[in-house]
Amino acid sequence: MTETFDPTALMRSNIRSLVPYSTARDEFSGEGITAWLDANESPFDNGVNRYPDPHQKALKGVVSGIFGVPVNSIFIGGAGSDEAIDLLMRIFCVPGKDNIVTISPTYGVYEVAAAINDIEVRTVPLGKDFSLPVEALVSAADSNTKLTWVCSPNNPTGNAFTTAELVELANAVKGMLVIDEAYVDFSEKGTMIPFMAEFPNVVLLRTLSKARGMASLRLGMAFAHPSVALAMAMVKYPYNVNGPTQAEVIRRLTEENDLEENIATILRERKRLEDEILSKKGVKRVHPSDANFLLVEFENPDDMYEMLLNGGVLVRNRNRVPGCKGCLRITVGTPEQNDTLLKLLDEQ
Ligand SMILES: *Cc1c(COP(=O)(O)O)cnc(C)c1O
Repeated sequence: MTETFDPTALMRSNIRSLVPYSTARDEFSGEGITAWLDANESPFDNGVNRYPDPHQKALKGVVSGIFGVPVNSIFIGGAGSDEAIDLLMRIFCVPGKDNIVTISPTYGVYEVAAAINDIEVRTVPLGKDFSLPVEALVSAADSNTKLTWVCSPNNPTGNAFTTAELVELANAVKGMLVIDEAYVDFSEKGTMIPFMAEFPNVVLLRTLSKARGMASLRLGMAFAHPSVALAMAMVKYPYNVNGPTQAEVIRRLTEENDLEENIATILRERKRLEDEILSKKGVKRVHPSDANFLLVEFENPDDMYEMLLNGGVLVRNRNRVPGCKGCLRITVGTPEQNDTLLKLLDEQ
């Protein structure tokens, strides 16, 4: 990647010239104040009467320490990764003119966020065994392609791409490459964070919703070149992460937690399910997984889905997703939940 690459040049011109809204707390955040009479809040302390930090400085400090990413490269969203996905579409793509390129099958939100913003989506099917079609992704792009989206490990196929493949793609794409690492904690192939300094055209998406067990808090992150992180901060709603969430996430990230142990359990159970599901009646194939779910091909997926549902086990039916014919997506649960699943597959 050339050092002269500047993501700002790819942004919409109205974003490049945007003067962001300035909140009361933007204009003053210093010390020595005994009476905050600047933001028309209620003065009666009840724990949530004050506006939160619009820049999430304390939280970004903690995230920076844990993930090894500089504070000025961090964006934090209060509606999960979905907020970052929408912001990237709005920052880079002119509605009705620009387009994005993405793999298929993959996470459905990229396509919906593009459609909401009137952005053309060019989908490229994954190769054999769900491999990354680097050349096809590059040739699907034209001068109006601003973003190429790859999810690794990919949802719903479960496989991760190697850092070598992703580096090859990062070198070849026109525009920005967004890599969604929602499931990277479960993969041996590893994160692209160490390559960020080398590739200013790469944006990484991370979430606290999966391995870190905080889906309900709705906290998503993007790691990007400082110019991109700054644009995201300017375009987001000013107070996009509420105060209790900022405090709760800081607490959970800094206090002792079960992260490593929980990941080890999921990996052990993933292996057990992989082996055992394969021997059950009506199972055609269990796709290899680098994530916390398995894509399983059945002879009669719809019947199987109903059977599991009647037994109290809810899975995701992907039978009608292009590239996933016959497949159900099954999340790895606790050992007990997985036993229930396996027992139902035995009893059919
Ligand atoms: C679950 C998931 C996310 C996380 O979404 P949040 O909005 O952060 O909960 C992101 N990307 C993919 C591919 C996912 O499957």
